[in-house]
Amino acid sequence: MQVTPHVYVMHIDDDSVYHPGGSNNYFVGDPHEEMLLIDTGDQQREWTQSILDYYEHLGRPKISAILLTHRHQDHIGGLDRIYDVVQAPVRCHPKLVTKLTTMVGQDAVVPLKSREMLRTGGDVAVQALFTPGHEVDHVAFHLQADRVLFTGDCILGASSSTVRDLASYMKSLQLLTQYQHDTICPGHGPVVPPPRGAELVRWYMHHREEREQQILDALAKGFSGVKAITRHIYPRNLRKGLREGAERNVATHLEKLVHEGRVTQTPSHYVLQGH
Ligand SMILES: [Zn+2]
Repeated sequence: MQVTPHVYVMHIDDDSVYHPGGSNNYFVGDPHEEMLLIDTGDQQREWTQSILDYYEHLGRPKISAILLTHRHQDHIGGLDRIYDVVQAPVRCHPKLVTKLTTMVGQDAVVPLKSREMLRTGGDVAVQALFTPGHEVDHVAFHLQADRVLFTGDCILGASSSTVRDLASYMKSLQLLTQYQHDTICPGHGPVVPPPRGAELVRWYMHHREEREQQILDALAKGFSGVKAITRHIYPRNLRKGLREGAERNVATHLEKLVHEGRVTQTPSHYVLQGH
């Protein structure tokens, strides 16, 4: 499906509890000239085939580069088979190079530079924006010509993202607000068109700030463990997979608050081995 003049999305319903609304791979540029491919999906044959079918549908354009947003399996799993078909340079964050080299060979992978411009067909370019937080090697891409941000797993279309390092993540969101956009093309969930697309990054920042405040309030009320705080601030009927994600999220917020010196962590539990 065409999203904007230079953006085409291959949407797949991969049915994961962590990303409601399915997943997306993007072709960017002009199908009559050259295109960039963003992300290569999980390793399931069906997913890889869907990307390659869509590539056929676009008329097998020359691929200028395969861009990877980060190291998670649902973004790089199909890389080797897709690389065999499109034979384009693989571009990623410098911290992801070694891992991808084992999949496609040393010569195929070229590290991105921060803010690098990647030109493609239709006389447009996307700019690589290093956006750590969800993962250390996360990269988002900005297509100025169509006012589009490709946010990988930094911003999702239908849920909030999991975050490893919240302080870096908040800085990354701040960076994204500096690039003009009104459409968000996320790794998972639906594409978010204008007008909501223009506001989504700020909404995410606001959502995190609110969550932080809820955690500070819970601490003030005497809740002191990750599980207790999670039970206090999240709905009681969260599905099991989501509850674990919520607990990780609370732990990440607490790490940030400890790091900032606003909260003190004390070792509290000792458990007998084997119990
Ligand atoms: Zn993902």
